[in-house]
Amino acid sequence: MKSWKSILAQSITTPQQLAEHFNLDPAPLTQVVGRYPMRINPYYLSLIKKPGDPIWMQAVPTPLELEDKVCYEDPLDEENRSPVANLVHKYPDRALFLIANQCAMYCRFCTRKRKVGTPAMMINQATMQAGFAYLKQTPAIRDVLISGGDPLLLDDATLTWILTNLRQIPSIEIIRIGSRVPCTLPMRITTRLAGLLKKFHPLYINTHFNHPTEITEQAALACARLANAGIPLGNQTVLLKGVNDNPETIGELMHKLLQIRVKPYYLFQTDMTRGTNHFRTKIETGLEIIRSLIGHTSGMAVPTFAVDTPGGGGKIPLVPEYTTSIGREFKFLNYRGESCSYHNAL
Ligand SMILES: *Cc1c(COP(=O)(O)O)cnc(C)c1O
Ligand code: SF4
Repeated sequence: MKSWKSILAQSITTPQQLAEHFNLDPAPLTQVVGRYPMRINPYYLSLIKKPGDPIWMQAVPTPLELEDKVCYEDPLDEENRSPVANLVHKYPDRALFLIANQCAMYCRFCTRKRKVGTPAMMINQATMQAGFAYLKQTPAIRDVLISGGDPLLLDDATLTWILTNLRQIPSIEIIRIGSRVPCTLPMRITTRLAGLLKKFHPLYINTHFNHPTEITEQAALACARLANAGIPLGNQTVLLKGVNDNPETIGELMHKLLQIRVKPYYLFQTDMTRGTNHFRTKIETGLEIIRSLIGHTSGMAVPTFAVDTPGGGGKIPLVPEYTTSIGREFKFLNYRGESCSYHNAL
């Protein structure tokens, strides 16, 4: 069996290589890839059934990326909210710590498209030390979310070094890892990696599946290894036009996630990231998808639908309206559209 590193090394990174696999003209993509890198590893490539399908759309560049005049470079205002490089401190008790600048596949809709996979994302021993120092001197932070890029693309020794440093800070109660690797390069989740991670509990992993066809036998095995190491698994899906923006696809995805022991956590409205405008859906689409889940399936399968607001306002939950009247008597419509009421407490 090939190692994950050798699989990654065989990734498609140029439009010419893409044209060897698919019938397309590489010329218009050269400029796109110069600005926003492409990496499609052989595993994720194998999930593409035909050009234009939901896997293709997530991985293959389009000239539309350079035509976006609506969105912003840094929609979540992360750079201004970083007290030290690569550490975003926006909420009182938690922080986002970027520890890797590469991914197993460069998602075309990435919120950090401005820098992920490019030299603009400088991460090294010194920036990480500065991050540890900030976390040490900011004990209000009890939850550290490590992300990137993809933290699980780091080798085992580097990950161990980072996690050991974080665990030496007594104020950090929980560590969360955000990683798309269980979906995009599941062979990275070796038994050795799972064994390494379980030494740093309480440790949570939020992964990122967007479409039911991403839930393969290999992805299921990767998630089983993590779950068997006692790591609670969550999932963050991005709502993407033409990929998963309908109730059937999201419903099937949520059910398949639960079957591989992954609890749906967030469904995100696409961020207003420059180069991703063509993926944006209307907020109403997401609300209707959530309405199609609530009551019709188990609460376990219902993620929190949220929009991360431009300017750094943070994540705002979006909930379909069930309340029709507020007062002494609260009135509602249930998931079937039937009237219900509740006598409010005095
Ligand atoms: C999303 C995010 C978090 C984590 O938010 P939760 O709602 O706790 O999952 C923390 N910091 C930043 C900057 C974020 O964008
Ligand atoms: S895996 Fe995450 S960080 Fe990497 S390109 Fe995809 S969305 Fe961006």
